[in-house]
Amino acid sequence: MKRVTLLGSTGSIGVSTLNVLAQHSDKYRVYALTANRSVDVMFEQCQAFNPEIAVMLDEQSAENLAKKLKLINSTTQVLSGEQALVDVSESNNTDYVMAAIVGSAGLLPTLAAAKSGKHILLANKEALVMSGGLFMREVEANNATLLPVDSEHNAIWQCLPVGSKQQHHFDGKGVRRIILTASGGPFRDYSTDQLEDVTPEQAVAHPNWSMGQKISVDSATMMNKGLEVIEAHWLFGMTSDQIDVVLHRQSIIHSMVDYVDGSVLAQMGNPDMRTPIANALAWPDRIYSGVAPLDLVAAGRLDFSEADHQHFPCLALAYQALEIGGTSTAILNAANEIAVDAFLKKRLKFTGIARVIEEVLTKLPASAGDTLQQILDDDHHARELAKRLIAA
Ligand code: NAD
Ligand code: MG
Repeated sequence: MKRVTLLGSTGSIGVSTLNVLAQHSDKYRVYALTANRSVDVMFEQCQAFNPEIAVMLDEQSAENLAKKLKLINSTTQVLSGEQALVDVSESNNTDYVMAAIVGSAGLLPTLAAAKSGKHILLANKEALVMSGGLFMREVEANNATLLPVDSEHNAIWQCLPVGSKQQHHFDGKGVRRIILTASGGPFRDYSTDQLEDVTPEQAVAHPNWSMGQKISVDSATMMNKGLEVIEAHWLFGMTSDQIDVVLHRQSIIHSMVDYVDGSVLAQMGNPDMRTPIANALAWPDRIYSGVAPLDLVAAGRLDFSEADHQHFPCLALAYQALEIGGTSTAILNAANEIAVDAFLKKRLKFTGIARVIEEVLTKLPASAGDTLQQILDDDHHARELAKRLIAA
């Protein structure tokens, strides 16, 4: 029996993960579930999975949850606060940690999982974008296992040569480059003028995937793909010029690896996160995920086109930040989180997102190092500057 901590259990990835776990209750037991403030969803999840611990970040939400659980004589212990998220990640009572909190809030608990040598299922790409070098060093030093859940990175993981526990050791195995696919989001066919007036409602309606709000906006700006380029750099040790992005509107090929002999390996499947989740859970074995078999005849065709950096300036900004290095990717991520939040609250236009990030990257010098303190400081400064730029 593997014991699982699920960070962000009430979100889109969290719910899909519980769906897979429920199909394999003989193999996995839930140790802890965590969320921000969704008490009702958490209450239902506690009833269904009976975890030892449930964490609500928000204290009032934790109190409400504890009251509801008491009424049904639940044995689940309720905790609150940031330290509790760290505690359930590094606890000796858990083996696997699914990192599915959205944004920078996931950094410390995910890092705690690395430091305590867990089998980490990484969905929270922002944690890696912020702290890549530091995070990978902790994974190595503490013999943690890092499995990518992001569909593109899970696809690449599957297409890379097998042979070592941590597949980012594939030097000399003939890999030329990796190719990330991107659907292009809901505005891929919009003109520059049309982009000026898009609303949050339009931005969160993704054509192929059902996801949380923040990543849906990131997909619309293609910052999501930019974050994924940075994520791929750290996971697979590739330089920015070895990571290509191609638009593929059907989201059937989830990404590819190009080898020096001219072979290109692709991983395909229906766009359903339960596939990469099941893959990361069971690796190196395979388990049933509940996802329907791919019907290639019904799909009919696979289209590819260029990911235009002019149309998607956020993608270009992410490549730039990766090339600068140091804390610049943490700065990029922080500015993006603030800008996306302002867009969702209708305080910033869609096209303002890239403008704010670009200005923050230009005005705020990145630190060359990547200690946790430098990362957190520059993250903080970038947020403050982004807020000032949006208010001005
Ligand atoms: P979501 O918004 O649906 O869920 C976020 C979860 O995190 C919720 O359980 C919420 O309660 C919790 N949370 C939010 N703020 C928190 C905070 N400050 N402290 C503690 N917990 C907090 O998001 P999602 O779509 O499930 O995405 C989660 C992560 O997975 C993101 O990093 C995203 O980029 C990544 N990811 C998602 C998908 C997808 O299909 N949804 C695909 C690939 C990667
Ligand atoms: Mg992805």
